[in-house]
This record gives sequence, structure tokens and C-alpha cells, in this order.
Amino acid sequence: MPSLQDTLNEIVAEMAAQTERGEVASYIPELGKVDPAKFAIAVVKNDGEVAAAGDADEPFSIQSISKVFTLALALGRVGDQLWSRVGREPSGTAFNSIVQLELEHGIPRNPFINAGAIVVSDVLLSGHQPREAIGEVLSFMRTVADDDSVIIDRDVANSERATGFRNFALANYLKGFGNLNHAPEMTLGVYFHHCAVAMSCLQLANAGRFLANAGRIEETGHTIVSSERARRINALMLTCGHYDGSGEFAFRVGIPGKSGVGGGILAIVPGVASIAVWSPGLNARGNSMLGSISLERLTKRMNWSIFASR
Ligand code: GLN
Repeated sequence: MPSLQDTLNEIVAEMAAQTERGEVASYIPELGKVDPAKFAIAVVKNDGEVAAAGDADEPFSIQSISKVFTLALALGRVGDQLWSRVGREPSGTAFNSIVQLELEHGIPRNPFINAGAIVVSDVLLSGHQPREAIGEVLSFMRTVADDDSVIIDRDVANSERATGFRNFALANYLKGFGNLNHAPEMTLGVYFHHCAVAMSCLQLANAGRFLANAGRIEETGHTIVSSERARRINALMLTCGHYDGSGEFAFRVGIPGKSGVGGGILAIVPGVASIAVWSPGLNARGNSMLGSISLERLTKRMNWSIFASR
């Protein structure tokens, strides 16, 4: 059987040969500048093996992948009370859709669609100034990645603030339903900044270790969340992590994953490995096109699936 490193090298070569790469997100102008030819993949296994290929050291905008980490922080802050303000059902709608908010009286379907993540940001803001809440998210990312060089890309955050009209609409609508405790622009300040965290695939795969390992990072000795909470976050990633493409991702890739419009995906093989991929071009549902294809190939070749018979 080829080694993990050989498999990643093969996937990088195969992806370089793909002519259709999807469309880079341009609704956030700063993201539109990214080279669509970039590709990276990194795997950090629970047994300590690390393998990476392509542009795995190059930071990119993690965007909605940050919502996995803000969810973990918010659950740490308010526990299960969070679920009175956000649901746990797949939405079947686009990440920035507003339609269900009216039907469901201002309770977003799940914490990974934009409306749900804005409520999560609102929770992180309570008792803090926006700058402190943003600092808390950044320091959490540095802790889980075990890397103090992780930064927030201010240009991306400002670009999103300048053009985030749909997110302002969502925040105002949430406020109208009484499901936002702070001024929409304050809550969105936190949201735009956590979406603008920049990380490489290697950093991101490291950041996902606790989800693959029952809430714990062996290398640093930190317990980040309880094993039950890690399981539940993985469940939400599987059912909601790719928006209206979540069913397709579960069908093709077979493990929990969270995508971002920067073209990254964090995927977790519980008990085995944390994986990060990056290819900036997106499919019609706003998920990385080659990122999804490469994860499908990797999990197939490694026989990694939460649905496999042991
Ligand atoms: N910051 C992005 C937005 O609000 C996040 C969306 C995403 O990554 N799917 O539109």
C-alpha cells in the first residue's frame, strides 16, 4: 500500500491536471484576488504522523471553517443554552440565505450558516468589547494550532465589512426577532474578523486535531472540549458543514467536514486524523470544487469513512 505521503503527492499531481477548478469567490473583493491554481493538502494523524503536499505552508482565508471554532468557544461559554438561540438541523439552503429566518422566527437552522454563526458571534461578544472577543477567537486558534504565528487578515475583514450587505441584512433581521443582544455592526465586527483568520493547511490540520481525538491534543496535553462535545461538533460538521451540499459531501467523502468560501475544507476522521485541503475555486454551492474531489479520493484510498464496516 502506498504511504500517506505518496497518496498526497499523487492527489496534488492529479489536481494540477484538472482543467475545471470552479470559481473563486469574488463577492468578497479581497478573496477574488487569490490565484485559482493554488492547491494544498495536509493530514495530521492521531498517531503523530504528519504529511502534506502542495502549497501546504501558504496561509489562506479560512472563512466559514472558523465557525467550527467559534461554536466550540460559544459552547464553552454558555453550554447547551446556545441551542435556545440556534438550531441543529441542516438548512438545505445557501450559506447566506435569509428565507428560513422568517419562517422559524429568527432562530437560524444551525450554527454554520451565516445567520447561525452571527448568533454565535453575538454570544462571544457578551461581556466583551468587539476587540476582546476577536482577540479571544484568535488566541483560541493559536492554541489549537499550537502556533502563535496565526493572524487575522485585516484587509479581508475590511473588504467583507465594506461589501457584506447580506450579512448586515441577516444581522438586522435577527435583531428584529430579538435574537441578537448587541448592535448588528458590533456583532458583525466579530463575525467578519473571525472569518478573516488566515491559516495554512498544515496549521488548520493541526487546529482540527482535538476533533479527531475526543477533544484532546496529545502533543500539547490540552483538553479543548469534552469527548461528547467533540462528537457533537463532528455530527454538526457532517450534517451542516457544507450547507446545501452537506448530503453530497457525506455521500462522496463520508466524514465530517467544514468548508469556507476561501476554498478551504477541514475534515475529520474521528479517532484517526485531521485533514485540511485548499483550492480556491468553488462549486455552485460555495464549497471548494477540487477540495471536495481530493478529499473524496483521499478517503477512498485510505479507506477512511465513518460509515464503513470495521
Ligand atoms: N465570511 C463569509 C460570508 O459571510 C463566510 C461564508 C462562507 O465561508 N461560506 O459570506
